[in-house]
Amino acid sequence: MKTEAGQKADAAAKADPKPGRRNGKPAEQRLVGIAVSPGIVIGTIYDTTEAPAEAPRRAITAEAVEMERTKLQDAAALSRKQVSKLKTRLSVLPEEAQEELEPLLDAYILMLGNSRLLRGARKRIGEELLSAETAVQDEAEAIAQAILAAKGDDKAGLNRRAGEVREIARRLTRNLTATPFRSLKGVPAGAILVADELTPADAALLEPGKIAAVATEEGGADGHTAIMLRALGIPAILGCHGLTAAAQRGDMAVLDGGAGLITLHPEPATITRAKEGLAAQAKERARLGKLRRLPAETTDGQLVELQANLEIPAELPLIAQAGAQGIGLLRTEFLFMNREDLPDEDAQVEAYRAVLEAMGQDPVTIRVLDWGGEKDMEALAEGVPVSTGPNPALGLRGLRLLLKRPQLLEEQFAAILRVAHLGQVRILLPMVTVPSEVAQAREIYERVARRLRRRGEALPEKLPPLGAMIETPGAALAADAIALEADFFAIGTNDLAMYTLAVDRAEAEVAHLYDPLHPAVLRLVQFATEAALRLRMPVSICGEMAGNPLLTPLLLGLGVRTFSMNASAIPRVKQAVRGLDIGDCARFARRVMEQSDPARIRELVAGFAEGVSERA
Ligand code: PEP
Ligand code: MG
Repeated sequence: MKTEAGQKADAAAKADPKPGRRNGKPAEQRLVGIAVSPGIVIGTIYDTTEAPAEAPRRAITAEAVEMERTKLQDAAALSRKQVSKLKTRLSVLPEEAQEELEPLLDAYILMLGNSRLLRGARKRIGEELLSAETAVQDEAEAIAQAILAAKGDDKAGLNRRAGEVREIARRLTRNLTATPFRSLKGVPAGAILVADELTPADAALLEPGKIAAVATEEGGADGHTAIMLRALGIPAILGCHGLTAAAQRGDMAVLDGGAGLITLHPEPATITRAKEGLAAQAKERARLGKLRRLPAETTDGQLVELQANLEIPAELPLIAQAGAQGIGLLRTEFLFMNREDLPDEDAQVEAYRAVLEAMGQDPVTIRVLDWGGEKDMEALAEGVPVSTGPNPALGLRGLRLLLKRPQLLEEQFAAILRVAHLGQVRILLPMVTVPSEVAQAREIYERVARRLRRRGEALPEKLPPLGAMIETPGAALAADAIALEADFFAIGTNDLAMYTLAVDRAEAEVAHLYDPLHPAVLRLVQFATEAALRLRMPVSICGEMAGNPLLTPLLLGLGVRTFSMNASAIPRVKQAVRGLDIGDCARFARRVMEQSDPARIRELVAGFAEGVSERA
């Protein structure tokens, strides 16, 4: 069953003359989102915005009362945020539907504040020792029954009001149990998954062989959900306004992840075009596959290193297939996702060992935990000083958190050091903003190494290099000073663009302003790269820019020679490298860096790529 707001929006969308119907069948409807992960899919919609089955009843102990009340408070806050967002999206619906839905959503927001429902549920948690979700369900049912028992002629109105209370209880339950995607066992193979929002942790649980494609209302191009979907090779569009109101479970659709387009109820001609696109895709894949064994070498003989980013171990086979020269960014967040406790040192040792053994003697750069911001992980919530301030992205995240909770960092350093002899390891620190943070981390690193040596662990004679992510404007502008503390740089252009432009990388509403080609971002990349090159210190780019072949000439021209990207992007970037001359790239980069308008830069980038393909 759909949510009530969803049903009304559906009804309104269907009544809209624009989507319309032809010969009794719904007419084709195209919706545009953000192109996040390429690939064409013809399939049926599996809409996850449907209400979950009732959560099982759960009793709690007296000690758990406060924790359940906090969970309830957090779920109410999240639900308010979701409903408020839904409100901002009303403009995509026909006017009539907007007029009807707006007061309803306002009522929902009120019910998620200091309402009888929430006060009653809080009370039940403490007095009846019930879990938050059980208390919400019981209280909602009691209120609904009281409404239905009220005297009056307007039976339809009473039914509606009772339905609204139950609807809000369902939303709260969904957020309290936070398991919508873990229960995707019933999804038919080949489905196009449609959701309001997919968190990075949800995305990590998707099976690429099963879910054919993903489309969501929320999300931005370089958020972690997008990165995860690209890594898994699942075609996807995010930030697609109006999608959940328009798409229903079982609808036929064509999704084009490269074009950022989903077509509902496609006409036969659309399906034919999609099939042609699929055939062209297969041909292109076969052609790029032939590049696997060829070197990433420019026409003037410069070797370029193309490495892979790894978000979950399931990607390891893809990394081998893509012909990556090692892992340039191992995001260790996967170890901390979708679990209720922290992984201990031994569990981490096993995880790193598996990656290092799979990679043989190819270099592997392991980044220590980058928790915070949008990478919300349950395991860390307890006992860890999580940033709850108004701007989590500016709060306690990345290295800041690890330095405040040094035991986390010590355990991770120890686990990495214990397996470092198995391969060529480097360790990377996320979200550095001041040089002293690197110095502090190094002190801990060396202390851990001394302790392990005393214990008789076989550590490499020379400790693995300790590098810094350059992903804030502050770090980029202080790159000279940070370079004196760090052994290498990895430039994270995703966060760098977000912090430079003050645009959340995962926020659909401002996605149009998120632009790594903004001259301010490019200048910071140039500044940090040059600071490293002056000291002959290794520097790589590991943000999503690295995997865009259109940007390869510019980044080579700025002096970058090591790129780390999602594995599936490697063949195309290699193809680009093999058609380029470093002198041409340097001249082109100088030209780009003289520009002040991102649109002009985009034009130049496209023009240069066209020139190269014409010459080839
Ligand atoms: C970046 O910010 O560019 C980066 C590579 O790190 P992450 O995407 O994991 O934040
Ligand atoms: Mg980052």
